[in-house]
Amino acid sequence: MGREVKRVPLDFDWPLEKTWEGYLSPYSEYWRECPFCNGIGLNRITSSGRYCECCGGDGGIWLTPEWKAKDDAWEPTDPPIGEGWQVWEIVSEGSPVSPVFATKEALVDYLVSEGHMRSSSQAFADAGWAPSMFVANGKCAHDVDTVELMNQCKAVQETGGM
Ligand SMILES: [Zn+2]
Repeated sequence: MGREVKRVPLDFDWPLEKTWEGYLSPYSEYWRECPFCNGIGLNRITSSGRYCECCGGDGGIWLTPEWKAKDDAWEPTDPPIGEGWQVWEIVSEGSPVSPVFATKEALVDYLVSEGHMRSSSQAFADAGWAPSMFVANGKCAHDVDTVELMNQCKAVQETGGM
């Protein structure tokens, strides 16, 4: 999990760093942390790995079985698709972390203005996805900067040398 480039409508307007509503179950308000095990799911008295009898090890309780069934049947929905380009963090459920740009080039320019190398910004935009962290060749890259480093490693493997 890390960063992703999403294609969203140019007028897509969702607050930055706020989880997209389609990724949050509308039924979570009918779920409560188990009061007997405080959400751990284990028996509080022994903590010997025995499941909590109250919640069955889930760490929480649905107010009624109907809410649990509804939540099980629920599927997250992605944001609308459009012409724009936007960076999302997908470490948790997923939320936008950049403005929406009309072109991929404008997105790359933005990443450069945020302090990333142009080559790594371009590699990230081309790949459309980057993990939170990647370590190779004695280097450690984060988020947007990981893709270029991964590509370098791939190139090394393909040519068969170090
Ligand atoms: Zn419990």
